[in-house]
Amino acid sequence: MKVSFHGACREVTGSCILVETSDVKFIVDCGLFQDEDSEFRNMISFDFNPFDIDFVLLTHAHVDHCGKIPKLFKEGFMGNVYCSYPTVDLANQMLLDSAKVFTMREGGTPLYFPSDVEKAIENFKAVPYDQEYSITNNIRIRLKDAGHILGSAIFEVWIREGKREVKLVFSGDLGNPPAPIVKDTDLIDGADYVFIESTYGDKVHLSRDNGRKLLEEKIIEGIKNDAVMIMPVFALERTQEMIVELKRIFEKGHIKNIPVFLDSPLASRVTNVYKKYESFFDEEAKRISKKKKDLFYFENFKISKKKGDQASFLKHSGAKFVMAGSGMCDGGRVLDYLKKYLPKKNTELLIISYQAENSLGRKLMEGESEVDIGKKRVRVRANVSKIQAFSSHADSLKLVDWIGEIKKPNPKTIFINHGDGISSEVLSNNIKEKFDLNTLIPDYGEEYEL
Ligand SMILES: [Zn+2]
Repeated sequence: MKVSFHGACREVTGSCILVETSDVKFIVDCGLFQDEDSEFRNMISFDFNPFDIDFVLLTHAHVDHCGKIPKLFKEGFMGNVYCSYPTVDLANQMLLDSAKVFTMREGGTPLYFPSDVEKAIENFKAVPYDQEYSITNNIRIRLKDAGHILGSAIFEVWIREGKREVKLVFSGDLGNPPAPIVKDTDLIDGADYVFIESTYGDKVHLSRDNGRKLLEEKIIEGIKNDAVMIMPVFALERTQEMIVELKRIFEKGHIKNIPVFLDSPLASRVTNVYKKYESFFDEEAKRISKKKKDLFYFENFKISKKKGDQASFLKHSGAKFVMAGSGMCDGGRVLDYLKKYLPKKNTELLIISYQAENSLGRKLMEGESEVDIGKKRVRVRANVSKIQAFSSHADSLKLVDWIGEIKKPNPKTIFINHGDGISSEVLSNNIKEKFDLNTLIPDYGEEYEL
């Protein structure tokens, strides 16, 4: 059997691994590239013929993992996309949003339209966690909870070729427990080959408890200074987690309630999907949902629903807190707030997410005193803080620990992808050093015989 890598090689977007056995071809994830050349890279043909692919295994609904699935269908794929139950609905929301963005872009042909998303979603097939499921006579799968976002899955895949059976494990993106809402990352007992992400393969996160303390301190200080607090958020998972974190802080009762506003139509739709899948929450989130009826509500918290909501929030004087997309400030409604409030001294910009190179968020994080927002040059007098405790990705220690549990059997090779810069290499060295396992960092297009 052969595996080859068609994205997320020494970078964090465009996840796509092709597996070819004696009788079947399948891919694991089919994600959008989101780098500077992404428009071109997403538009060009796949390296393989989509018509020849029998099925797709989808680890989760982030677009860097699922964003090219409608294109795959458009270009001839006719099989099923296997994923968890929440992933079907979450991918639907994320893909429809991508289609909308493509159709709104000036010039060029959109990568796909909402109607392509609808056709693709009809072929998504939900599979429960923890149960073996046979896709063909020779291939069976089992989804384990990756704890990264709601519905995220690690795929265990058993492939039989003649008398030989090989077990492959695809990590997808691994979570950063303890996180609110999602369950802790499942451990895997053994595998012949492992494919693991390395987003934070070279970093150790601040603990969530310290992050919570820091966030609370920032809010107390912000209230004292009548500050406008702006938190750019990604619509999927980060927003829902931060609603729960803010609920925790404000419901303690010793902090004055100030208006807290979520201004992101996509995040609001995604939050509604979360509400539908409460049975997938961790125990604490289930308990709060049961007791308080709604995990995503607290006093003074408002979600933007109609025209005019933003204007009335902007008009409000005194301390206030807003979450808005996009998480890297590259578009979305957060720009409305940045334009108005970055030039003011009593603004606190709270960066909690990964900021890609050249993104507006990265520029602000690095302390640039002037930035371009659309056609406007904006002075930055706001205070910018970063809190790197709320990542939904495992850090280097957690990635290494997760690999360490895969013992029966010990993997023959660990393929490391989905990591920028030196993160894949640092993870590779740490794994080799600690467990004496064979590791490989594939380059784009590289093929390996297993
Ligand atoms: Zn992800």
